[in-house]
Amino acid sequence: MITEIPFLDLVTPHVELEAELVTVFRSALKTASFVGGPMVEGFESDFAKLCGTRYCVGVNSGTDALRFALMAAGVRPGESVITAPNTFIATTEAIGQAGALPEFVDIYERTCNLNSGKLRQYLEEQCDPHPITRRPVSRRTGRLVTAVVPVHLYGQTADMDPILKLARTYKLIVVEDACQAHGAEYFSRKEQVWKKAGSMGKAAAFSFYPGKNLGACGEAGAVTTNDESVAKKLRQLRDHGQVEKYYHEIEGYNGRLDAIQAGILSLKLRHLSDWNRLRRVIAGTYGELLTGIDGLILPFEPSWARANCHLYVIRVRDRQEFRNWLAAVNIGTGIHYPVPLHLQNAYSTLGYRKGDFPVAERVATEIVSLPMFPQLHRTKQNYIAKRVWEYFRASESRLSSEEARIESTA
Ligand SMILES: *Cc1c(COP(=O)(O)O)cnc(C)c1O
Repeated sequence: MITEIPFLDLVTPHVELEAELVTVFRSALKTASFVGGPMVEGFESDFAKLCGTRYCVGVNSGTDALRFALMAAGVRPGESVITAPNTFIATTEAIGQAGALPEFVDIYERTCNLNSGKLRQYLEEQCDPHPITRRPVSRRTGRLVTAVVPVHLYGQTADMDPILKLARTYKLIVVEDACQAHGAEYFSRKEQVWKKAGSMGKAAAFSFYPGKNLGACGEAGAVTTNDESVAKKLRQLRDHGQVEKYYHEIEGYNGRLDAIQAGILSLKLRHLSDWNRLRRVIAGTYGELLTGIDGLILPFEPSWARANCHLYVIRVRDRQEFRNWLAAVNIGTGIHYPVPLHLQNAYSTLGYRKGDFPVAERVATEIVSLPMFPQLHRTKQNYIAKRVWEYFRASESRLSSEEARIESTA
């Protein structure tokens, strides 16, 4: 008997790991080194290994990871930074907090990630080359466009080859928003190798917010990079600009990673590949169970992507009705995200209008995230699929009775 299927079950994995997790807290108490220290360094080295990067710098959230990554990679106040409009606001908060303005480019409908064709079009048609440096200047803002932040949304990488190529041509810094993409992979057709999310840009930001594929028991984040000078700058930024205690090279931030969170993350990191594998199995099962429904669009994974299946996002036309139907049978769902950033009140001053990014806008009205977590049992997935099919059969019969009524009155 199925009583309730939450959108996300965070309790079960923590109950399973409780005994181990408690030892982290106990060992932190013994030395009372709560901020930085060997547990942080240990996690940084483990996570760099996972991402295939030379460096990882632990910070206190994904938002700070993004902000520090942009600053350390060289984004300066007064510049413009390109990203997609269908991301969590932290992406653009970080851009704004680095002193830059977000500039949006629309997405591919099937993957919901940054459209590199539109990016090229934007750089060619909506920017002018700076008279001296030839670098792109946005016609909208008059600002120098210096960076692009591809978001690996739902745990699937953006198509990086063409983005990196444009970045080289236009001298753009690439900072990956890998906050949902722990362990996700991308096959570079250009280099003929699989690469890890977080290893492709000048720097990449990860979040370890509890609901992510790798989550702390609180707030945490990290930046990965292969560039030693970026890593050095990141360590300064997270720690008040210090190079040595009370010797401040720059004004920085209080953005360090807690030792207890780092210890917890090291412990959970050992399970990440298993959890990601389970998520992929669950996504595959959804795919099998939900194939063939008219009016339902399943997620699309190109051959060059190996997603970590952070979210399982489908598209339906009458979303609210669909969510209500599932809620009535105790199935939790989410929307990631309901309002594209260019239409948020927070960004009304940027001067964008409805219709500016039609793909992101349309997708935003149709997306629904189904329950997705490694412990989601097959029997529950069967139940979810059964209810989804019932919804579409019922709406089909509603539609045909509607048609019949129209015919009879015509
Ligand atoms: C979670 C998330 C962030 C922010 O991470 P926090 O750790 O919550 O600050 C940024 N970008 C994306 C795409 C995210 O999903």
